[in-house]
Amino acid sequence: ETLDKGLEKSKSSFFSKMSKAVAGKSKVDDEVLDDLEDVLVSSDVGVATTIKIINRIEDRVAKDKYLGTDELNKILREEIAGLLSETNSGNATDFTVPNKKPYVMMVVGVNGVGKTTTIGKLANQFKSRGLKVVLGAADTFRAAAIDQLQVWAERTDVPIIKQSMGSDPASVAFDTVQNAVKMDADVVLIDTAGRLHNKVNLMKELSKVKRVMQKVIPDAPHEVLLVLDGSTGQNAFEQAKQFTAATEVTSLAVTKLDGTAKGGVVIGISDQFQIPVKYIGVGERVEDLQVFNKFEFVDSFFK
Ligand code: GDP
Repeated sequence: ETLDKGLEKSKSSFFSKMSKAVAGKSKVDDEVLDDLEDVLVSSDVGVATTIKIINRIEDRVAKDKYLGTDELNKILREEIAGLLSETNSGNATDFTVPNKKPYVMMVVGVNGVGKTTTIGKLANQFKSRGLKVVLGAADTFRAAAIDQLQVWAERTDVPIIKQSMGSDPASVAFDTVQNAVKMDADVVLIDTAGRLHNKVNLMKELSKVKRVMQKVIPDAPHEVLLVLDGSTGQNAFEQAKQFTAATEVTSLAVTKLDGTAKGGVVIGISDQFQIPVKYIGVGERVEDLQVFNKFEFVDSFFK
């Protein structure tokens, strides 16, 4: 229900464009496919992924020459869910973490995408499921980042490990995992700085943060979650490109889908970078961060 509401803009935009694409047509032909291609690209699915989807539908049209336009939505749903399966997107079923103690998540992304909010919402979800959570304020570049994380720590009543602004992010990360082990924590969420204008520094900083926490937990971080603002379209693609070049990103959170008509970005980014989408943000309330379910997503989108 929250999801349907959160995707309302995407859905109504897609629906009206699709209705135009198939208006007066009973059968899926080349013209319908061309129009569908435009609809997908304009929903920010991305050109490469759109072509992939169109090719798959063409294959089905080749097999079934009288494929009706009334079946198009159903077929799209199937093909897109299949595509997302290939990246393992939508396989997470709830707010739990694998059995590693503590399970260390390093959270990356540029300022303003909803990184802090996502960490706070995750902390809340994990905590309410009985997991012991610790936050690490390793975005030491901006005082506001530390303060904001502190606010979430208080709001969710979970401990936060921090140092002063300007201190070494790797040192904060080290302190955080060390304390987490001492406190017998289940989940560690480490916020990091995302300054893309200096790519070499970003890469160095993230590798150092990883290296240093591995002194305490050799296989940490167990997850590197990249947070992207879904309402920024091509910028989100560009950020995914830069972060995946700087560090190994293992999962995605796509936020602010409630504020955009171009929710297709979720499909394109996951496919293009072959990284699973694990969480989506469809609003500002805690419950608006959802575990991404590909079937619910495509159903909301294409119903
Ligand atoms: P950060 O700089 O990346 O840490 O970004 P913040 O976490 O401070 O978020 C920036 C703004 O985006 C805040 O006002 C959040 O409330 C808002 N925000 C985060 N996620 C969502 C979402 O899924 N939907 C909406 N509408 N707003 C969001």
